[in-house]
Amino acid sequence: MNAMLLEKLMPVTENATPLRLVEWPEPQPGPQEVLLQVSACGVCHTELDEIEGRTPPTSLPRVLGHQAVGRVIACGSKVTEHQVGDRLGVGWIASSCGNCPHCQAGDENLCAEFHATGRDIDGGYAQSMVIDQHFAYPVPDQLTDVQAAPLLCAGAIGYRSLRLSGLQNGQRLGLTGFGASAHLVLQLARHQIPDSDIYIFARNPQERRFALSLGACWAGDTLDKPPRLLDAIIDTTPVWTPIVAAMKCLAPGGRLVINAIRKEDADKSALLQLDYPSHLWMEKEIKSVANVARRDVSEFLQLAVDAGIDPEIELFDLADANRALIELKTRRVRGAKVLQIA
Ligand SMILES: [Zn+2]
Ligand SMILES: [Zn+2]
Repeated sequence: MNAMLLEKLMPVTENATPLRLVEWPEPQPGPQEVLLQVSACGVCHTELDEIEGRTPPTSLPRVLGHQAVGRVIACGSKVTEHQVGDRLGVGWIASSCGNCPHCQAGDENLCAEFHATGRDIDGGYAQSMVIDQHFAYPVPDQLTDVQAAPLLCAGAIGYRSLRLSGLQNGQRLGLTGFGASAHLVLQLARHQIPDSDIYIFARNPQERRFALSLGACWAGDTLDKPPRLLDAIIDTTPVWTPIVAAMKCLAPGGRLVINAIRKEDADKSALLQLDYPSHLWMEKEIKSVANVARRDVSEFLQLAVDAGIDPEIELFDLADANRALIELKTRRVRGAKVLQIA
Protein backbone atom coordinates (compact mmCIF):
# COMPACT_ATOMS: atom_id res chain seq x y z
CA MET A 1 0.00 0.00 0.00
CA ASN A 2 0.99 3.65 -0.30
CA ALA A 3 1.58 5.58 2.90
CA MET A 4 2.92 9.00 3.84
CA LEU A 5 5.54 8.19 6.44
CA LEU A 6 7.01 10.36 9.20
CA GLU A 7 10.59 9.21 9.77
CA LYS A 8 12.13 12.15 11.57
CA LEU A 9 10.76 15.09 13.60
CA MET A 10 11.36 18.54 12.09
CA PRO A 11 9.89 22.04 11.88
CA VAL A 12 7.18 22.43 9.24
CA THR A 13 8.48 25.28 7.11
CA GLU A 14 7.60 26.54 3.62
CA ASN A 15 9.83 23.99 1.83
CA ALA A 16 9.74 21.18 4.38
CA THR A 17 8.79 17.66 3.36
CA PRO A 18 8.46 15.88 6.70
CA LEU A 19 6.38 13.06 5.21
CA ARG A 20 7.61 10.73 2.49
CA LEU A 21 5.42 8.71 0.12
CA VAL A 22 6.48 5.06 0.45
CA GLU A 23 5.35 1.61 -0.53
CA TRP A 24 4.59 0.09 2.88
CA PRO A 25 3.40 -3.33 4.04
CA GLU A 26 -0.36 -3.52 4.55
CA PRO A 27 -1.11 -3.93 8.28
CA GLN A 28 -2.72 -7.16 9.49
CA PRO A 29 -5.71 -6.92 11.87
CA GLY A 30 -5.31 -8.45 15.34
CA PRO A 31 -8.19 -10.49 16.81
CA GLN A 32 -10.09 -7.38 18.00
CA GLU A 33 -9.21 -5.20 15.00
CA VAL A 34 -10.65 -4.34 11.62
CA LEU A 35 -8.62 -3.55 8.51
CA LEU A 36 -9.94 -0.46 6.73
CA GLN A 37 -9.37 0.60 3.15
CA VAL A 38 -8.98 4.32 3.79
CA SER A 39 -10.75 6.67 1.38
CA ALA A 40 -10.34 10.01 3.19
CA CYS A 41 -8.34 11.38 6.09
CA GLY A 42 -8.59 14.84 7.61
CA VAL A 43 -5.47 16.94 8.27
CA CYS A 44 -5.32 18.28 11.82
CA HIS A 45 -3.22 20.87 13.70
CA THR A 46 -2.21 18.08 16.06
CA GLU A 47 -0.24 16.56 13.18
CA LEU A 48 1.91 19.69 13.17
CA ASP A 49 2.48 19.08 16.90
CA GLU A 50 3.46 15.49 16.19
CA ILE A 51 5.89 16.37 13.39
CA GLU A 52 7.43 19.27 15.29
CA GLY A 53 7.83 17.22 18.46
CA ARG A 54 5.37 18.84 20.87
CA THR A 55 3.20 15.70 20.85
CA PRO A 56 5.74 13.29 19.35
CA PRO A 57 4.83 9.80 18.10
CA THR A 58 5.77 7.08 20.58
CA SER A 59 7.98 5.52 17.89
CA LEU A 60 9.19 6.25 14.36
CA PRO A 61 8.55 5.74 11.54
CA ARG A 62 4.87 6.50 11.98
CA VAL A 63 1.87 6.94 9.68
CA LEU A 64 -0.02 10.01 10.97
CA GLY A 65 -3.71 10.76 10.56
CA HIS A 66 -6.62 10.49 12.99
CA GLN A 67 -9.69 11.55 10.99
CA ALA A 68 -9.95 8.54 8.72
CA VAL A 69 -12.93 7.14 6.85
CA GLY A 70 -12.84 3.79 5.10
CA ARG A 71 -14.50 0.48 4.38
CA VAL A 72 -13.81 -2.70 6.32
CA ILE A 73 -11.89 -5.14 4.10
CA ALA A 74 -10.95 -7.70 6.76
CA CYS A 75 -11.94 -8.49 10.35
CA GLY A 76 -9.95 -10.09 13.17
CA SER A 77 -11.19 -13.41 14.58
CA LYS A 78 -12.95 -11.81 17.58
CA VAL A 79 -14.63 -8.89 15.79
CA THR A 80 -18.38 -8.83 16.41
CA GLU A 81 -19.24 -5.13 15.96
CA HIS A 82 -18.54 -4.69 12.26
CA GLN A 83 -18.38 -6.68 9.05
CA VAL A 84 -16.61 -6.51 5.73
CA GLY A 85 -18.08 -3.68 3.66
CA ASP A 86 -19.09 -1.45 6.61
CA ARG A 87 -18.11 2.20 6.29
CA LEU A 88 -16.41 3.39 9.47
CA GLY A 89 -14.75 6.49 10.85
CA VAL A 90 -11.74 6.62 13.18
CA GLY A 91 -10.86 9.50 15.50
CA TRP A 92 -7.95 10.50 17.77
CA ILE A 93 -8.79 7.95 20.48
CA ALA A 94 -7.42 4.56 19.42
CA SER A 95 -7.76 2.63 22.69
CA SER A 96 -7.97 2.95 26.48
CA CYS A 97 -7.85 0.49 29.40
CA GLY A 98 -11.61 -0.03 29.61
CA ASN A 99 -11.53 -0.66 33.38
CA CYS A 100 -10.62 2.55 35.20
CA PRO A 101 -13.29 4.90 36.63
CA HIS A 102 -12.91 7.27 33.65
CA CYS A 103 -13.39 4.50 31.11
CA GLN A 104 -16.34 3.14 33.10
CA ALA A 105 -17.92 6.60 33.09
CA GLY A 106 -17.51 6.98 29.32
CA ASP A 107 -14.67 9.48 29.63
CA GLU A 108 -12.00 7.27 28.07
CA ASN A 109 -10.24 10.45 26.97
CA LEU A 110 -9.13 10.88 30.62
CA CYS A 111 -7.75 7.32 30.94
CA ALA A 112 -4.08 6.98 31.92
CA GLU A 113 -3.73 4.34 29.20
CA PHE A 114 -5.20 6.50 26.45
CA HIS A 115 -3.59 5.78 23.10
CA ALA A 116 -3.92 8.02 20.06
CA THR A 117 -4.42 7.16 16.41
CA GLY A 118 -1.56 8.30 14.20
CA ARG A 119 0.67 8.91 17.23
CA ASP A 120 0.74 5.69 19.27
CA ILE A 121 -0.48 3.48 16.42
CA ASP A 122 -0.35 4.04 12.64
CA GLY A 123 -3.17 6.18 11.28
CA GLY A 124 -4.97 7.16 8.10
CA TYR A 125 -2.37 8.87 5.90
CA ALA A 126 -2.27 5.58 4.00
CA GLN A 127 -4.36 3.34 1.79
CA SER A 128 -5.19 1.08 4.72
CA MET A 129 -5.02 0.97 8.51
CA VAL A 130 -6.12 -1.22 11.41
CA ILE A 131 -8.17 -0.11 14.41
CA ASP A 132 -9.73 -1.77 17.46
CA GLN A 133 -13.35 -2.66 16.65
CA HIS A 134 -14.61 -0.65 19.64
CA PHE A 135 -12.89 2.54 18.47
CA ALA A 136 -14.43 2.81 15.00
CA TYR A 137 -17.82 4.33 14.31
CA PRO A 138 -20.40 3.75 11.57
CA VAL A 139 -20.64 6.77 9.28
CA PRO A 140 -24.25 7.84 8.54
CA ASP A 141 -25.25 7.35 4.89
CA GLN A 142 -26.03 11.05 4.44
CA LEU A 143 -22.35 11.99 4.79
CA THR A 144 -19.78 11.43 2.06
CA ASP A 145 -16.35 10.12 3.05
CA VAL A 146 -14.67 13.51 2.70
CA GLN A 147 -17.50 15.29 4.55
CA ALA A 148 -17.26 12.84 7.46
CA ALA A 149 -13.46 13.10 7.85
CA PRO A 150 -13.17 16.54 9.50
CA LEU A 151 -16.15 15.76 11.73
CA LEU A 152 -14.15 12.98 13.41
CA CYS A 153 -11.70 15.27 15.21
CA ALA A 154 -12.39 18.98 14.81
CA GLY A 155 -16.13 18.39 14.88
CA ALA A 156 -16.23 15.85 17.71
CA ILE A 157 -13.96 17.96 19.92
CA GLY A 158 -16.08 20.98 19.13
CA TYR A 159 -19.13 19.02 20.22
CA ARG A 160 -17.45 18.02 23.49
CA SER A 161 -16.42 21.65 24.05
CA LEU A 162 -19.97 22.87 23.55
CA ARG A 163 -21.24 20.18 25.93
CA LEU A 164 -18.64 21.11 28.58
CA SER A 165 -19.55 24.79 28.24
CA GLY A 166 -22.86 23.90 29.96
CA LEU A 167 -24.58 26.52 27.84
CA GLN A 168 -28.39 26.63 27.87
CA ASN A 169 -30.48 27.70 24.90
CA GLY A 170 -30.70 31.49 24.83
CA GLN A 171 -27.40 32.07 26.64
CA ARG A 172 -24.68 33.89 24.77
CA LEU A 173 -21.75 31.92 23.27
CA GLY A 174 -18.35 33.26 22.22
CA LEU A 175 -15.82 31.48 20.00
CA THR A 176 -12.18 32.60 20.10
CA GLY A 177 -10.34 31.51 16.96
CA PHE A 178 -12.32 30.45 13.91
CA GLY A 179 -10.69 27.43 12.27
CA ALA A 180 -11.72 23.89 11.47
CA SER A 181 -13.34 23.20 14.84
CA ALA A 182 -15.02 26.54 15.53
CA HIS A 183 -16.80 26.75 12.17
CA LEU A 184 -18.40 23.37 12.97
CA VAL A 185 -19.26 24.41 16.55
CA LEU A 186 -21.02 27.49 15.21
CA GLN A 187 -23.19 25.34 12.93
CA LEU A 188 -23.86 22.85 15.73
CA ALA A 189 -24.75 25.61 18.19
CA ARG A 190 -27.20 27.14 15.71
CA HIS A 191 -28.99 23.76 15.73
CA GLN A 192 -28.72 22.79 19.42
CA ILE A 193 -29.18 26.20 21.04
CA PRO A 194 -31.01 28.11 18.28
CA ASP A 195 -31.93 31.07 20.50
CA SER A 196 -28.34 31.75 21.57
CA ASP A 197 -26.43 34.61 19.98
CA ILE A 198 -22.91 33.69 18.85
CA TYR A 199 -19.96 36.09 19.03
CA ILE A 200 -16.70 35.42 17.15
CA PHE A 201 -13.19 36.60 18.02
CA ALA A 202 -10.78 36.06 15.11
CA ARG A 203 -7.65 37.82 13.89
CA ASN A 204 -8.28 37.19 10.22
CA PRO A 205 -10.95 39.44 8.55
CA GLN A 206 -11.74 36.65 6.08
CA GLU A 207 -12.56 34.33 9.00
CA ARG A 208 -14.75 37.01 10.57
CA ARG A 209 -16.73 37.43 7.34
CA PHE A 210 -17.06 33.65 7.07
CA ALA A 211 -18.41 33.49 10.65
CA LEU A 212 -21.00 36.19 9.96
CA SER A 213 -22.11 34.36 6.82
CA LEU A 214 -22.69 31.24 8.98
CA GLY A 215 -24.93 33.14 11.38
CA ALA A 216 -22.70 34.74 14.02
CA CYS A 217 -24.29 37.96 15.32
CA TRP A 218 -20.96 39.75 15.88
CA ALA A 219 -17.34 39.22 14.82
CA GLY A 220 -14.36 41.14 16.14
CA ASP A 221 -10.60 40.83 16.55
CA THR A 222 -9.30 38.55 19.32
CA LEU A 223 -8.80 41.41 21.76
CA ASP A 224 -11.95 43.37 20.84
CA LYS A 225 -14.76 43.89 23.36
CA PRO A 226 -18.11 42.34 22.39
CA PRO A 227 -21.19 44.56 22.90
CA ARG A 228 -22.43 42.30 25.74
CA LEU A 229 -20.96 39.92 28.32
CA LEU A 230 -21.03 36.24 27.32
CA ASP A 231 -22.14 33.16 29.28
CA ALA A 232 -19.53 30.84 27.78
CA ILE A 233 -16.55 31.17 25.49
CA ILE A 234 -14.80 28.33 23.68
CA ASP A 235 -11.16 29.06 22.85
CA THR A 236 -9.34 27.20 20.08
CA THR A 237 -6.22 29.39 19.79
CA PRO A 238 -2.70 28.09 20.55
CA VAL A 239 -1.77 31.17 22.62
CA TRP A 240 -2.50 32.72 26.04
CA THR A 241 -3.29 36.36 25.30
CA PRO A 242 -6.86 35.67 24.02
CA ILE A 243 -7.54 33.63 27.19
CA VAL A 244 -6.92 36.63 29.40
CA ALA A 245 -9.01 38.82 27.10
CA ALA A 246 -11.82 36.26 27.05
CA MET A 247 -12.09 36.13 30.86
CA LYS A 248 -12.93 39.81 30.85
CA CYS A 249 -15.80 39.19 28.39
CA LEU A 250 -17.50 36.57 30.57
CA ALA A 251 -20.72 37.30 32.46
CA PRO A 252 -20.95 36.33 36.18
CA GLY A 253 -20.94 32.52 36.46
CA GLY A 254 -19.49 32.30 32.94
CA ARG A 255 -17.19 29.55 31.79
CA LEU A 256 -14.20 29.57 29.47
CA VAL A 257 -13.58 26.23 27.76
CA ILE A 258 -10.10 25.79 26.30
CA ASN A 259 -10.13 23.42 23.34
CA ALA A 260 -6.42 23.22 22.54
CA ILE A 261 -4.02 20.32 22.99
CA ARG A 262 -1.29 22.76 24.00
CA LYS A 263 -0.59 26.45 24.50
CA GLU A 264 2.58 28.12 23.26
CA ASP A 265 5.01 29.16 25.96
CA ALA A 266 6.07 32.31 24.10
CA ASP A 267 3.39 34.57 25.56
CA LYS A 268 2.99 32.81 28.91
CA SER A 269 3.68 36.12 30.61
CA ALA A 270 0.21 37.19 29.44
CA LEU A 271 -1.08 35.02 32.27
CA LEU A 272 0.55 37.34 34.77
CA GLN A 273 -2.04 39.87 33.68
CA LEU A 274 -4.84 37.69 35.05
CA ASP A 275 -6.52 40.04 37.47
CA TYR A 276 -8.67 38.40 40.15
CA PRO A 277 -11.46 41.00 40.37
CA SER A 278 -12.00 41.54 36.65
CA HIS A 279 -11.08 38.11 35.28
CA LEU A 280 -12.09 35.49 37.86
CA TRP A 281 -14.31 37.01 40.57
CA MET A 282 -18.08 36.27 40.33
CA GLU A 283 -17.66 32.53 39.92
CA LYS A 284 -16.10 32.59 36.49
CA GLU A 285 -14.30 29.39 35.63
CA ILE A 286 -11.75 27.95 33.21
CA LYS A 287 -12.00 24.38 31.95
CA SER A 288 -9.90 22.50 29.41
CA VAL A 289 -11.14 19.90 26.93
CA ALA A 290 -8.95 16.81 26.63
CA ASN A 291 -9.75 15.67 23.08
CA VAL A 292 -12.61 13.18 22.74
CA ALA A 293 -14.32 10.15 24.21
CA ARG A 294 -15.99 7.60 21.94
CA ARG A 295 -19.50 8.95 22.54
CA ASP A 296 -18.40 12.41 21.35
CA VAL A 297 -17.41 11.00 17.97
CA SER A 298 -20.35 8.66 17.44
CA GLU A 299 -22.96 11.14 18.70
CA PHE A 300 -21.53 14.00 16.70
CA LEU A 301 -21.60 12.08 13.40
CA GLN A 302 -25.39 11.71 13.75
CA LEU A 303 -25.84 15.24 15.10
CA ALA A 304 -23.99 16.61 12.10
CA VAL A 305 -26.59 14.99 9.86
CA ASP A 306 -29.50 16.26 11.99
CA ALA A 307 -28.04 19.77 12.07
CA GLY A 308 -27.27 19.73 8.34
CA ILE A 309 -23.65 20.59 9.07
CA ASP A 310 -21.70 21.08 5.90
CA PRO A 311 -17.97 21.28 6.63
CA GLU A 312 -15.96 23.66 4.48
CA ILE A 313 -13.42 21.35 2.82
CA GLU A 314 -10.33 21.60 0.70
CA LEU A 315 -9.15 18.36 -0.89
CA PHE A 316 -5.58 17.15 -1.36
CA ASP A 317 -4.09 13.95 -2.78
CA LEU A 318 -2.36 11.64 -0.29
CA ALA A 319 0.98 12.48 -1.92
CA ASP A 320 0.29 16.19 -1.28
CA ALA A 321 -0.01 15.80 2.50
CA ASN A 322 3.09 17.95 3.09
CA ARG A 323 1.52 20.85 1.19
CA ALA A 324 -1.72 20.46 3.15
CA LEU A 325 0.25 20.65 6.41
CA ILE A 326 2.17 23.74 5.34
CA GLU A 327 -1.03 25.48 4.27
CA LEU A 328 -2.62 24.51 7.57
CA LYS A 329 0.30 25.99 9.46
CA THR A 330 0.28 29.23 7.50
CA ARG A 331 -3.55 29.41 7.73
CA ARG A 332 -3.78 30.15 4.03
CA VAL A 333 -7.23 28.69 3.53
CA ARG A 334 -10.31 28.57 5.74
CA GLY A 335 -12.13 25.41 6.79
CA ALA A 336 -10.80 21.85 6.92
CA LYS A 337 -8.23 20.06 4.79
CA VAL A 338 -8.87 16.48 3.77
CA LEU A 339 -6.68 13.94 1.98
CA GLN A 340 -8.58 12.04 -0.65
CA ILE A 341 -7.05 8.58 -0.88
CA ALA A 342 -7.58 6.35 -3.87
ZN1 LIG B 1 -7.18 16.29 15.43
ZN1 LIG C 1 -9.17 3.59 31.50
